[in-house]
Amino acid sequence: MPFDPPPSLPRKVAPLSFVSPIADLLVKDSASLAAAVAKLDAGAATTLFVVDGEDRLQGRIGVAEIEAALARGQGPQSRVGAAMIPDAGGLSADLPETELAARAKDGLVALVDGERRPVGKRDATTARRIPIAEPTLGGKELEYVTECVTTNWISSQGAFVRRFEADFAKLLGVPHAVAVSNGTVALHLALAAYGIGPGDEVIVPDLTFAASINAVIYTGATPVLVDVAADTWNLDPAALSEAITPRTKAIMPVHLYGQSAEMDPILALARKHGLVVVEDAAEAVGAKHKGVPCGAIGDCGTFSFFSNKLITTGEGGMVVFKDDAIAARARKLRDHGMNPQKRYWHDEVGFNYRLTNLQAAIGCAQLEQLDGFLARKMDIAAHYSKRFAGVAEIETPAVLPGFDNSYWVYSVILDCAGLGLTRDEVMARLSKAGVDTRPLFFCMHEMPPYKAYAGNRAFPTASRLSENGLSLPSSVSITQAQLDHVADALTGLVRTRRLARALVS
Ligand SMILES: *Cc1c(COP(=O)(O)O)cnc(C)c1O
Repeated sequence: MPFDPPPSLPRKVAPLSFVSPIADLLVKDSASLAAAVAKLDAGAATTLFVVDGEDRLQGRIGVAEIEAALARGQGPQSRVGAAMIPDAGGLSADLPETELAARAKDGLVALVDGERRPVGKRDATTARRIPIAEPTLGGKELEYVTECVTTNWISSQGAFVRRFEADFAKLLGVPHAVAVSNGTVALHLALAAYGIGPGDEVIVPDLTFAASINAVIYTGATPVLVDVAADTWNLDPAALSEAITPRTKAIMPVHLYGQSAEMDPILALARKHGLVVVEDAAEAVGAKHKGVPCGAIGDCGTFSFFSNKLITTGEGGMVVFKDDAIAARARKLRDHGMNPQKRYWHDEVGFNYRLTNLQAAIGCAQLEQLDGFLARKMDIAAHYSKRFAGVAEIETPAVLPGFDNSYWVYSVILDCAGLGLTRDEVMARLSKAGVDTRPLFFCMHEMPPYKAYAGNRAFPTASRLSENGLSLPSSVSITQAQLDHVADALTGLVRTRRLARALVS
């Protein structure tokens, strides 16, 4: 008897298909340019396929053709047929999959039936989503991890931990680097090593990842939120000076997205008031301020090696110190507060914040590739900045003299009011085009656990950046074609919105 699969199971798994519906992208040649703009706008599309009265494919039209037609003096009510690129081809939907895949390997192609009527589309640009920041594990990661396994050195004792710390200290130009299990405990360990605790205040920027403020709260100290500056997006020195009180013990500048905070006035204030400067450089490996690496500017600096950071160990972190005694205390606190000369004798209450040799092995391999990663980040930033130059609705990261941005994740501030869309609506439209984006962080003062730390201070800049900011795909592994697709999607959206607001209301 032939075997019959139970009815609840699908009898046949559908083959992976890149064919998707095309109805949203069709416009009649007799339709008006204004109608085409409305359709582009509603569908978050950059191209429409034009069909005649019998629904046969005639050509295609995008925002560039509409702009050109209007510039030639054609009115918004003139026909799409007069402005389109005629006969844009179209592939027979009956072609074998291998041939379709080969002939539609980049860009957007309409699939047509025997009568040249569009029945679907293939869109190579959106077949694979473009992620924000994915790791590149293209070096000796596997070789070094294998070495850990074959030698049995998999926990936090081992040669790779020592080498990772030594290599990192050398990179930063500091005497001490202490490897830890993630970037959040790196911050906590740094504050704890300086003895910061209940009764103390630590100044933290309002625009940051929550780990910055959480680490302060773990110590029992009180975080004091202050606004950020419009150019660096980081701690605003003017707002900072007003927030210093007799209880202030430390300042925590954060170098967001690879851009350094404006460190000179921060260091001057710290010196004047005797404060510790703990830099949260989680996002700023490789960034510099006046030639000094971020993280090595203040008294100590912390880093994260989470998988989306510039270099990764999966989870991991590092604290760098200049002071020998503080670094020694941090090492002890990392290892349960145990006296290094007397095993199981605990001098104080410590933590287990150690990094494993397995993770450090990956870190060593990642550090070997750092120069290449940084060079690629510069290319990505230069490419985006060039594509967005002169687009009034897109504010690109400020290029400031003496600031070497490492462009961990390239981010922009949009003129959402000018576009007539919220930032989240822009993100939804880009997502339709296969582009993953990320909002800038929410302001700390707006979230329930942190509201109390706002005092009566105002955060106009952090609020504006947070509401209008967007991070774009910036992986080291992103291709040139993907970069162009992201830039096309964002600039196309801006141009379509301009036309839509001018022609359709
Ligand atoms: C990633 C990050 C951290 C925390 O790092 P984890 O390794 O995820 O704990 C801290 N601060 C900032 C600004 C970060 O981006």
